[in-house]
This record gives sequence, structure tokens and C-alpha cells, in this order.
Amino acid sequence: MTEPTPMMAQYLEIKAQHPAALLFYRMGDFYEMFFDDAVLAAEALDIALTKRGKHLGEDIAMCGVPAHAAEGYLLGLIRKGFRVAIAEQMEDPVEAKKRGSKSVVRREVVRLVTPGTLTEDALLEARRHNFLVTYARIRDEGALAWTDISTGELRVMPCPLPRLLPEIARLAPREVLVSEAQMDDLGPLLAETGAAVTPLAKSSFDSTSADRRLRDLWQVGALQAFGAFTRCEIAALGAMVDYLDLTQRGKLPLLRPPVREVPGATMQIDAATRRNLEIAQALSGGREGSLLAAIDRTVTAPGARLLERRLAAPSCDLGIVHARLEGVRFLLNTGLRDKLRDILRRVPDMDRALQRLALDRAGPRDMAAIRAGLTQAQRIVLPAPPPHLAEALTALSGHDALTGLLERALVAEPPLLVRDGNFIAEGYDPDLDATRRLRDEGRGIIARMQAEFIAATGVQSLKIKHNNVLGYFIEVTTTHEATLRSAGFIHRQTTANQVRFTTLELSELETRILNAAGHALDLERRHFAALRDEILRAAAAIGTAARALAVLDVAGALADLAATEDWTEPRIDDSRAFHVEQGRHPVVERALRRKGEVFVANDCALTEDATPAMWLLTGPNMAGKSTFLRQNALIALLAQAGSFVPARHAHLGLVSQLFSRVGAADDLARGRSTFMVEMVETAAILNQADDRALVILDEIGRGTATYDGLSIAWATLEHLHDTNRCRALFATHYHEMTALSAKLSGVENATVSVREWNGEVIFLHEVRRGAADRSYGVQVARLAGLPAPVIARARTILETLETGDRDGTRKTALIDDLPLFRSPPPAPPAPSVVEERLKTVHPDDLTPMEALKLIYELRGLL
Ligand code: ADP
Repeated sequence: MTEPTPMMAQYLEIKAQHPAALLFYRMGDFYEMFFDDAVLAAEALDIALTKRGKHLGEDIAMCGVPAHAAEGYLLGLIRKGFRVAIAEQMEDPVEAKKRGSKSVVRREVVRLVTPGTLTEDALLEARRHNFLVTYARIRDEGALAWTDISTGELRVMPCPLPRLLPEIARLAPREVLVSEAQMDDLGPLLAETGAAVTPLAKSSFDSTSADRRLRDLWQVGALQAFGAFTRCEIAALGAMVDYLDLTQRGKLPLLRPPVREVPGATMQIDAATRRNLEIAQALSGGREGSLLAAIDRTVTAPGARLLERRLAAPSCDLGIVHARLEGVRFLLNTGLRDKLRDILRRVPDMDRALQRLALDRAGPRDMAAIRAGLTQAQRIVLPAPPPHLAEALTALSGHDALTGLLERALVAEPPLLVRDGNFIAEGYDPDLDATRRLRDEGRGIIARMQAEFIAATGVQSLKIKHNNVLGYFIEVTTTHEATLRSAGFIHRQTTANQVRFTTLELSELETRILNAAGHALDLERRHFAALRDEILRAAAAIGTAARALAVLDVAGALADLAATEDWTEPRIDDSRAFHVEQGRHPVVERALRRKGEVFVANDCALTEDATPAMWLLTGPNMAGKSTFLRQNALIALLAQAGSFVPARHAHLGLVSQLFSRVGAADDLARGRSTFMVEMVETAAILNQADDRALVILDEIGRGTATYDGLSIAWATLEHLHDTNRCRALFATHYHEMTALSAKLSGVENATVSVREWNGEVIFLHEVRRGAADRSYGVQVARLAGLPAPVIARARTILETLETGDRDGTRKTALIDDLPLFRSPPPAPPAPSVVEERLKTVHPDDLTPMEALKLIYELRGLL
């Protein structure tokens, strides 16, 4: 057995400290990976796997990526769920050699790159947040903290376990941190969310040391300065800071003091509802086709992120909703909107530039971004703005000193990297100017020297050139070699066609030029550091200005949308109203318009001020039931997000919770458990919806046999009506259910009308009150291309059934067949094992997963 080489020994030592990450080990111009890391990375990045030496008698697998192109590879690895530890060379190899022939360059991990801790533009989506979440649990209490380190926002809220998945769905974080002690419980639950789950040591969540860590960070005597936090919330915040410290190796990003979110301040929307309504993401997975994509007219990245946040969490605070709407109305009615948006188009992403500056990962362009942002901000004037915008406007001024400084200090278009130099403007520092003159004069002197050499030797093609190996040299073609040798030029190198020389004079000049260039770069570096400190001193004010610009951008974008799409300002109060006149579905409307078709606007008027108030919507498939249901949910959501709405008129009472479920029959491919999932999700609504909820149920129960399905749909509507007492829109193809409106006072029938013409159906997409007269299923089947004999046979069967219906025999028989609908209910028999088990259950304490398990358990008891 051979000893590992000193370098391999160093590698193994560093790797041992980061077993969960791939180690990028810097060697000169490359990051190399070894052993299993190399195998994994080569596969993930599709790059060549090679070998380098042996360890314990075995070949060492190796692969590498060039350092200058590392970002692209990093992105590839992070997207595939890897974490990467970056070990840099901490000294010049020359230094290491001085210590002895065996010593290796000192290397240290300078950063741990994880999905939730990215700051580089190349690794981030400009218009989306990149949230990192911590979840802390102390006994029955839970708390969620989240930040986007690329912008520095930090928030925390109490979060009992059943709220965890809905909140995660709202934030769509890239990474979730939990205590390793709770991985068994939380790991499987969180695995479904698509975020990377990172376990942290239990000690990271210790609330006492967290309290100290946080007070140190914000330099306050007590965290109460920022609000009343529970121990659990402090633990969540503390773990977050601990993790940032770990991954950023002691360089913390700028974190704004934590803002506490109160539960109930925003509309509660669970994961299934978000998916179903395609709020920020379409069912197909992308942004295209989502509500957000359809309405986003923002012109800055921070504006786009703010809009996404608002849409993800519409407010339940009337004051906030009204203020936002007032801002939109103001910009809708002022001719200054276009001017404002023109200015905003030139505002770069100051938040992210600022964070890179704080983490010492910035370049001159980040400084230019701050300069441009603040300069544009100062150009914004809006006379007599409403309070919401006035507050934003005050944050935009008062940056003259800093913009003046950056204006003087930086060139107009600085390079990306500090090491490229030449970003400090002329006239800012006389010393720098003098050094640069020397450097540049050197170039002039070189040109003169070349002319002199040509004159002296008579070789017209003689050139003075420069490369990194030789520095400056004189180059001639081989034919002139003898001439230069005899003139006393010193030979340096012979290549295929050229011969290279130098002279004493040239190498002296080179030293002077090099010194000047190096010195100039040093001076620029020093200025960069000083400017950076200056910017960071103003970080809080810059952050406030950046947020204010985002607020203006969102208001301007929503005003633009309202103006061009003919949207209307909703009236919102704390009544139970749900009254929409001529409402439209923004996404479907857009899709139809592209095809040259027109969207049919529809009214939805739930009985004014009645609790509960529900519409039971019947009509054939493809008539537009789902579209109608969703458009009304989206209108409520848009209104509380502070946007105008696609309707001619809307009066809405605040909605506290929004629920939407779709029957599973469309999705047989996903397997038999789909129906189970649908039922579990429906159960969640029936257990949670309060009388301020808005519930949208689309064909619930169709994933099972007709009688089962009808019974479930029926009982669900009854429960919503009698127990939840909420507002609801309920679409079904079970015509039998229309009878319910006679029995339940809050239920009204509505139908999407179709016209029959020559045996064909024409979809009018018009919603009107009343029950559908028939289902037109056979006609729809014909439209879909079912063979003619099948259609004919279906017609015959249908007629037989319908005759039975008209006689009154079948329908009554049907309803009487179903024990659910028989009244009064039979006297209850002695409780069964299942009932006994059920008595011990507290539905409100169950997560969907636990509920699912319980159902399996109950099934087993039968
Ligand atoms: P259902 O739920 O009744 O089966 P959908 O809501 O899925 O029907 O609508 C079917 C199709 O009809 C949609 O894809 C859309 O193209 C069209 N549609 C629905 N509502 C409207 C409307 N109000 N105006 C115009 N076209 C509509």
C-alpha cells in the first residue's frame, strides 16, 4: 500500500468535512472532482471521466470543469439536486513551494452552494424568488421562517404542522431546512413538495443560542425590538442564520430584520388549489399558461417577484387591498403611467446587486446597477399620489450623495469583473490617472520602439508582440533570423514560421509597463473596496428604494393591464357578497383570442348576503363549467391581491380561504389511488372551510361508480351548506342533484346553456340560472368522433331511460335506493369497530397523509 500523495491527503481531509456535497477542488484553472464525486458529476454534467494516479492501489476517478465556466456547470449540478462545496487555493503556488518541496497549496472551502443559497444571476431566475425555508418544531408548536438571500427579505410565522404543506406550496422554496431529529417525521412529507430537504444539527434550532445569534446579527438588546416572537419562531430564524453562516463561510448576506406574518392576514390557499387554479404555474409545469404569466406586465425583475408574491398570498386586510387598488386606479387615470414605466424599464435589479456586494461576490457592474437604479429613482415624479404610492415615492429621493459619488467614480459601462480593471473613471483619482498614463504611454513607447527596430534592421515586417508566456517580444519570419542575430538581438524562441527575440531595452520597458499596469489594478481594487463599503453603509436605504420601485412597477403594470384589457376595479368589503357581472377567465380568454375566438362573459351572483350561498352548476361536458368556476375563483384572488378584475362589475366580500378541487376521472392514468387523493382533499375542505371561505368543486365524485359518486357529491354539498356555511360553486353532471335546491335554502341551480341544432350541440358558453334540461352527453360523444352505430345505440338506451324518468318511477327509485337520501335516517345500530376507532380521531389534527393512512386503516377493519 502506498501513502496518499500530500495533495490527495489534503483532498481527503477537506472532503471528509463535506460528505454530503460534491467537492470542487481548485487546481490552477480547473475545479477537479475525484472518486465518487467525479463519477456522479461526470454523469450529471455529461463530461469526460478520467483517471489520475492511484489511491490504496485503485485508480482515482477524476473529472474537471474550467474555473472560468464553472457557473454553468454549477447550475447543472444544483438543478439536479446536488450541493457543491467549493475549495479554492488560498495562496500562490510559489508561496507553497517556499515552505518545502512536499508542501501543497493551502486550500479551503470558501462556500457551500446549495439550491436555497444562490446569489449569482446566472444561477437564478430573474423574475422569481429563490426561497430558503426553515421549519422549527417545539412540542405542538411550529414555526416557519423564510428568506431569499438574493434579496435579503426575512419573514417568520407560526405554523402548526397541518399548515406546513400549504405554506410550502405558497413559497415554492428551493430548499427546506429541518432538524435532523425530525427528518423521520418531516422528510417524507416534504419530499412531495419538490424542494431539497436539508437536515441540520439539532443544536442549530436551540432557541437560547438562536436568540443570542440574532441579537448579535442585528445589534439589538432584545429581539422584541422587531416584534413579539415565540421561542419556536426564534429557533426557526436562528437555524436559518446558522445555515447561512455555514454555507457562506462566515460572510453573511444582508438580512433585513425579520417581519412576523400573522396567520390569517392573507388568503389561505392550499397546494391542490394552487395547482388546480394554475396561479403561478400551469398544470403542464411551466409558467406559460398560468394566471401569473397572463397578467404580468411588470418591467423590472423585482416588480415581477413582488407580483408573484402578491398573487401567491392575496391580502385579507381591507385596508391593504383598498390602498393597492387606489394605487392602480391613480396610475390608470394619469397620463404619467407610460413615462413612469419607461423610467422603470431602465432600473436594474438593485436587490440582488446589493446582496452580491455584501457577500463579496460582486463586480463593477453591480455597482453600476445601484447607480443606475438610484439615478432613475430620482427621476420619478408623480403629483398628488395616493398614500400607498406616496410612501414609495419618499423612499426614492435622498440618494444624491451616493449617486454623485458613483457617477464620479465609475465609468459609464464597467466590465463584469474587478480583475478586468479600467472601471474607475478618469479624474476620480489623480494617482490612478498617472499610473495609467505610464502604463498606456508604455504602449506608445512600444510602438515607437518597433518603428526604431524596423529602421535599424530594415525588416519591414518586424513586430513587437505580447503573450502571457514570453511577455513582450520581437517577432520576425525565419527569413530574417540572421539579420536580427547579427544586430545583437537576443534569441528567445523559434516557432514553425517565426523567430522571437528580445533586447535589454525592451525587457526594461516591459517591467515598467507591467509594474504600472499592476499598480493601476491594485489602486482600482482599493477603490472598489471603498465604494463597496460606502454602498453597504447605505444598504438599508437602497433596499427600501428597491422595494419602492417594485411597488410602483406592480401598480403601473396592473394599471396597464386594466387599461388595455378593459378590467374593472372591484368593490371589496366585509360582506358576504359574491357578485360578478360579465366576468371572464383571463387565461382562457387570452388563448381564445390567439385563435381568433371570443370569450363569452358570464355573471355570477350568489344570493346577496345569504350565508351560505351556493350555485349548483350543471351542463354537458365541454360547455364551460370548469372555466366558469375557475374564473370566479381567480377574480376573488386577483381582487384581494390588489388588482382590477376581468369583469364589468364585481362586488365581493372578503374571502379568507380559497379551495378548489377537481374530480379525478380525467386522470385515470395516474392510477387508482387518484380517487382516494381526491377524497382526502375534499375531506380537507369539509374539515377546514369556514363561513368566509370560497369553495370551488368541479365534478367531485366522478372518479367512482355512478351511485357512489352521486352520493358523495350530494353529501358533500349538504355538508358545505349545513356545516361549513360558505360560498361555493359546485359543478356536476349528476342532474339528480338539481333537486337539492328545493331542500337547501342557500343552493341555487345554474346551467351552461347549449343549443341543439340538427342533432348537433352548439356550445353557447352562457351561464344562466336554472337546471340543465338534459346532459347532451351523446351529442358530445358524437362531436368527439364516436362511431355512428355506437351513437345510435346510445340514443336508444338514453330514450328508454328518459321515458322511465318521466314516469317518475326511475328517479324516485334511484333516490330511494340511496340510504344517504332517505329521510328520516334509520335508528343507528350499535357502534362498529370502525365507529369506535373514528371516535378517537380529531380531524383537525390530521395531515392529509395521516388522513390517508387512517382511511387505509379503517378499510382494514371492515
Ligand atoms: P366543462 O368543464 O363544462 O367540461 P370547460 O370549462 O373545460 O368545460 O370548457 C371547455 C372549452 O370551452 C374551453 O377549453 C374553452 O375553449 C371553451 N370555453 C369555456 N368557457 C368559455 C366561454 N365563457 N367563452 C368561450 N369559450 C369558452
